[in-house]
Amino acid sequence: MIVARNLTQRYSRAIGGTGRDGEPLPEPVLTVLDGVDLDVEEGEVVVVLGPSGSGKTTLLGLLAGLDRPSSGTVRLAGVDLEDLDEDARAALRADRIGFVFQGFHLLPTLTALENVLVPLELLPRERAPRPAEAEAIAKGLLDRVGLGARFDHHPAQLSGGEQQRVGVARAFANEPAVLFADEPTGNLDRETGEEIVDLLFELNEQHGTTLVVVTHDLELARRAHRIVHLSGGRIARIEEPGHPT
Ligand code: ADP
Ligand code: MG
Repeated sequence: MIVARNLTQRYSRAIGGTGRDGEPLPEPVLTVLDGVDLDVEEGEVVVVLGPSGSGKTTLLGLLAGLDRPSSGTVRLAGVDLEDLDEDARAALRADRIGFVFQGFHLLPTLTALENVLVPLELLPRERAPRPAEAEAIAKGLLDRVGLGARFDHHPAQLSGGEQQRVGVARAFANEPAVLFADEPTGNLDRETGEEIVDLLFELNEQHGTTLVVVTHDLELARRAHRIVHLSGGRIARIEEPGHPT
């Protein structure tokens, strides 16, 4: 489902200014990801663990085609991302990808229901449901995440856990082949976090959705098929829970 090869991401730390000779100062380069190879099978749950700043969010952004790597390749759902322009990537994401953000990223002026409708409206024409059908799907998803009584609430009228449930419902609305989640429980209390995790695993089992989840949550990691330990922009080791390495 995902084949990443030699993924490297570098950022120049622009410090500005000029040297005594009037030439711009050379910009020190920060290597955030350094030659990452990763294969994720269809239906697999892969958890990415690593300390803050180890490149987890960067890796997710590259695998999902939100950002372009400095070098290396990502093949996602049979498509080489480097061959696609921005419009084609956006179309691929709308069709095949779900993303749950750490900070929820709901649209504040839209209701819960309208937020979940957004990805349905972005589906390619041949997959797009009619409006009445889209509404039924979105309501079904909100019911599924326990928010059947909150359709018309705006994000500000929802608790953090409820907002993240809307985020999960939204991420599943396009029936993605791959769902990426960046610390989906990071802003939630323990109990609410566990509910969100249960939900992700249930949806994985019911729909066979491939999950790539960044987390600090060791309980969540223990339930994954594989755990990728990132350290300083490299894969330090890959662990299969239940199969000690
Ligand atoms: P993690 O999610 O593991 O905490 P990130 O992938 O967010 O780590 O970031 C890894 C490193 O890359 C950090 O040191 C961060 O400051 C740096 N970084 C991330 N994005 C950018 C960017 N757009 N420009 C410059 N540096 C960045
Ligand atoms: Mg991060």
